[in-house]
Amino acid sequence: MGAALALAARGVGQSWPNPAVGCVIVRGGRVIGRGWTQKGGRPHGEAVALEGCDARGATAYVTLEPCAHESGRGPACADLLIEAGVARVVMAALDPDPRTDGAGAARLRAAGIEVVTGVRAGEAEAQMAGFFSQMRRQRPHVTLKLALSLDGCLALADGSSRWITGARARAHAHLERARADVIVVGSGTLAADRPRLDVRLAGLEGRAPSPMLLGRGPAPAGWQHAADLAGLCGSGAHRMLVEGGAGVAASLLDADLVDRLLIYRAPMVLGGRPGVGALGLDAMPHGRWRAHPAIQLGPDRLETFTRIR
Ligand code: ZN
Repeated sequence: MGAALALAARGVGQSWPNPAVGCVIVRGGRVIGRGWTQKGGRPHGEAVALEGCDARGATAYVTLEPCAHESGRGPACADLLIEAGVARVVMAALDPDPRTDGAGAARLRAAGIEVVTGVRAGEAEAQMAGFFSQMRRQRPHVTLKLALSLDGCLALADGSSRWITGARARAHAHLERARADVIVVGSGTLAADRPRLDVRLAGLEGRAPSPMLLGRGPAPAGWQHAADLAGLCGSGAHRMLVEGGAGVAASLLDADLVDRLLIYRAPMVLGGRPGVGALGLDAMPHGRWRAHPAIQLGPDRLETFTRIR
């Protein structure tokens, strides 16, 4: 399952509108097939793994319950596994899509296949957080990225802020972009910085997420535009990365729409503009965050927090 999760990671940020699923086929102690969800969501990981291998009597490891619904875009993976003659299917997460939701596992069992569920399910759900967010809450999984000084500022008092973090922190931030479906900036950031929002990492240049403007338009050609948070939530994307600025950060935090917070912390004191705009709270907030171990990135530190819901 670890190998299947690692394969699935290759499709993260590429597989929308489908979840990024990994699959490994094992027979007689040997890996005979491997696959992951391809760009645009088809073919599914199981179909790729089964292609060209003789899976009779084999075990299939899948990070998500195989789908039970045929679509115009391809066959149901539960049927593919049955036709291939596998003896056993080990899966991580169950599929929350109402068209499958246990029906994939049931169809496999009805065909006499041994089914094991829940193996490393937590890791799989975290990897498919965007898909699960859409299924359970009908909105994208939102990551807010902030590049801040020690005192929580993103710019000097006059607004100048270019690159307060170093090359390694920026490279990491570009990797986060490569894993997102959509990247969001506000109209202030768009006007001030004209950000490129691309992925400048060797081998990953083609993985830039689709850009979206939040707030006052017009949006540049080729961008999506959400006038407000309702539009942002209704975009249909699975994985959303929000990059700025302070007003957008405040509105998303105020609406409790941030699921994951990435703070790239530069070792300097700016005494300037805070990274999050005024929230106007009159009481301590109820929302709590889980802190994950910080990562050192050259001179900077990445602090990651996930919202406890
Ligand atoms: Zn499938």
